[in-house]
Amino acid sequence: MRVKVGLKCEECGEMNYTTTKNSRTQSEKLEFRKHCKRDKKHTIHKEIKLKS
Ligand SMILES: [Zn+2]
Repeated sequence: MRVKVGLKCEECGEMNYTTTKNSRTQSEKLEFRKHCKRDKKHTIHKEIKLKS
């Protein structure tokens, strides 16, 4: 089952991205380096739960 998750900047706490993942095959939390508009640089973005 694919679930929608948010990706939150670790530095400023802004949720900059949303994505989906397969909860069966990806049980651990997602973590990406992505560009943060507020910080104007690439930062670690970690998965957060979204209300559906
Ligand atoms: Zn940020």
